[in-house]
Amino acid sequence: MNITLQLKPFTFTGVPDERPLVLAGPCSAESEEQVMDTARQLRDAGVRIFRAGLWKPRTRPNAFEGVGKEGLPWLKRVKEELNMYTATEVANVKHVYDSLKMGMDILWIGARTTANPFAVQEIAESLKGVDIPVMVKNPINPDVELWIGAFERLNSAGITKLAAIHRGFSTYHKTLYRNNPQWEIPIELKRLIPDLPIITDPSHICGSRDLLFEISQMAMDMDFDGLIIETHCNPDKALSDAQQQITPDALQKLLRRLVLRKADIDSNVLLSTLEELRHEIDKYDDRLVEICEMRMDVARKIGLYKKQNNITILQTSRWDEILKHRIEQAAMKGLSEEFIIKVFRAIHEESINHQMKVMNEE
Ligand code: PEP
Ligand code: MN
Repeated sequence: MNITLQLKPFTFTGVPDERPLVLAGPCSAESEEQVMDTARQLRDAGVRIFRAGLWKPRTRPNAFEGVGKEGLPWLKRVKEELNMYTATEVANVKHVYDSLKMGMDILWIGARTTANPFAVQEIAESLKGVDIPVMVKNPINPDVELWIGAFERLNSAGITKLAAIHRGFSTYHKTLYRNNPQWEIPIELKRLIPDLPIITDPSHICGSRDLLFEISQMAMDMDFDGLIIETHCNPDKALSDAQQQITPDALQKLLRRLVLRKADIDSNVLLSTLEELRHEIDKYDDRLVEICEMRMDVARKIGLYKKQNNITILQTSRWDEILKHRIEQAAMKGLSEEFIIKVFRAIHEESINHQMKVMNEE
C-alpha cells in the first residue's frame, strides 16, 4: 500500500514526548455544572485535555442524543477558566463550523462517521485552511484501509496534526468487550504509518469499568501514545455510557498504576537475551508454517477424494467436532477459547479454499 501523509507532531500541550497523552472527560456534556465539576477535578488531577461529546451518535432514536451546540459555551468556559484544551466529536459540517467558532482545540471523528467516506470527505473539505489537530476513531468494522482513507482525506485538505483513536471493533460474536480491541489492526496502522500517534480508548473497548486498567496497560505495552478515558463527576448518573465512565479520582489512580516500559533496548545483556528468545520464537513460527503446509496437503487429498465421490466440501458436524475438541484441548494448555476459535476458523477457511481449488480443477 502506498501511503504518503504529511504529518506534524500531535503533541501540542507544550510537554515534549508526553506519554501517555491523556484525554479525559464525560462521554456527553450534560449540563454546565457537570462539565465544570468534572473538568475542575480533572484539572486538579493533572489532566490537560478535556473531552466531551455534544452530538452523540446513538444506536436507537430517543436515547439521549447530546445537548448539541448549547454545550459549546460550557466547553469554552473549561478552556478559558481552567486553562485546559478542549476536544469534541464532529460528525458533519455544521458541527465543524460551530466547534471552530467556539474555539475548540481538537476535533475527533467518531467510529460510525469514519466508516462513511462521504461524511469524512465533507468534514475534511470544511477544514481546509484550518490548522487544528484532528483525531480519527477506527471505523466500527476492522478495516485498516478505511481508517487510513480518512487520514488521507484530512491530509489532502491540509490537516497535518493527526492522531488515531483505537476504540475497538464491532463483532457478531459476543466477546468480553463491548468492542473487540483486535490489537492487530492498530498495530498494522502503526507499521504502515509509524509517525501517526495512536491513542487507545479503553472506555469504548471495555464498555465497563473493570477492564479499563488492563486495556490501558496493554496500550502502553504496545508502545501506543495516549489514552482517552471517559470520566464523569457522577458516573452512575451519566446520561450515556454510564457503566464505562469513572470518576476523576479513579482515573488518577488508574494512571498512577500504569507501568511505562521503554520501547528502545539500551542494554547489551537485555538485547542478547531478547534475541535468543526471539530466535526461539522464529523456530516455532517456522514449524507452524510447515505444519500448515502439511495440513493443506492433506486437505487437497481430501478435496480430491470428495470430488471423486461426489461429496460436498463442508460437513458441518465434522467442523463442530474439530472445534469442540480443540477448545477442550486448548483449555488444558492454558490457551484462551477466543484464540483457539480464531486460529481454527482461519485454518479451516484456508483448508476449504484448498479443497475448492482441487474440486474446480479440470
Ligand atoms: C465517544 O467517544 O463518546 C463515542 C461516541 O465514541 P465512538 O465513536 O468510538 O463510538
Ligand atoms: Mn461514550
